[in-house]
Amino acid sequence: MYFNPIKKTGPAHTSVHSVSGGKSFKPSVPSGTPKKPETSSNVSKRPAPAPAHRPHPGGTPHFRPRIPRKWLRFLGVISITLVVSFSGYGITSVIAPELLSHAASTTMASIPESNLVLAPVLVQAPQWVTEDFLTPNAYSRPQTPLVRVNAIVVHYVGNPNTTAQSNRNYFEQLATTQDAYASSHFVVGLEGEVIQCIPLNEIAYCSNDRNSDTVSIECCHPDASGEFNTMTYDSLVRLTAWLCQTYQLDPLTDVIRHYDVTGKACPLYYVENPDAWESFLRDVNNAVSQ
Ligand SMILES: [Zn+2]
Repeated sequence: MYFNPIKKTGPAHTSVHSVSGGKSFKPSVPSGTPKKPETSSNVSKRPAPAPAHRPHPGGTPHFRPRIPRKWLRFLGVISITLVVSFSGYGITSVIAPELLSHAASTTMASIPESNLVLAPVLVQAPQWVTEDFLTPNAYSRPQTPLVRVNAIVVHYVGNPNTTAQSNRNYFEQLATTQDAYASSHFVVGLEGEVIQCIPLNEIAYCSNDRNSDTVSIECCHPDASGEFNTMTYDSLVRLTAWLCQTYQLDPLTDVIRHYDVTGKACPLYYVENPDAWESFLRDVNNAVSQ
């Protein structure tokens, strides 16, 4: 049983397995669009550049210009202004697009390949698993990608004699009640039925710090001891064995209890009876070996 420190009120069922890390990361989206480089259309009103000045090779002009000196100074200033403007036009209209394209290629090249998160492969559960996925929502199905699976985490629902469907529905209504962050990939019921609540390429809010690299299984139980009945147990062995085969995990080391993540007494009976847990792991191992 696990008490969730972030839940707002007491949940309908007591086995709330909290989120680690809170809400999912949202990548920032750049606002606005890059400014368009200056084009010939919006500089067409500029006056044409002045013709280049050719000094007389002899140093002394053949004639004295009749244009007054102050007019010559004025023309000189105009010429310099035009040259500077023309240079500016060149930088913005010709070089700027290259800079833009360089910036774009730099942005792509600066992301290390190891940081590119590829879409995880969607693993389909066997036919004896009933798919009843939760509606995407921030409280029980955040749709955060589950990129790798390093372990399977087993839980108990902590609410004796409840069905797999009712526990699945509890996760579903968290979208509305917003009472807690909680969910599980699978719920194994009292008659051995298995309901899948979360696709295997998304995380569930079940195992705290290990949400990001594990698949979670909640198990129903008939009484407060938390011991699984035979139908639940056998179905759990079959499901766990299938997951170990699918993700190439070692049942003896890669199948863990919620207790092994946080120290919580979950699944209660298999924390209080370590021999029963060891026996379960051997049963899974035998099922994988067959
Ligand atoms: Zn748990």
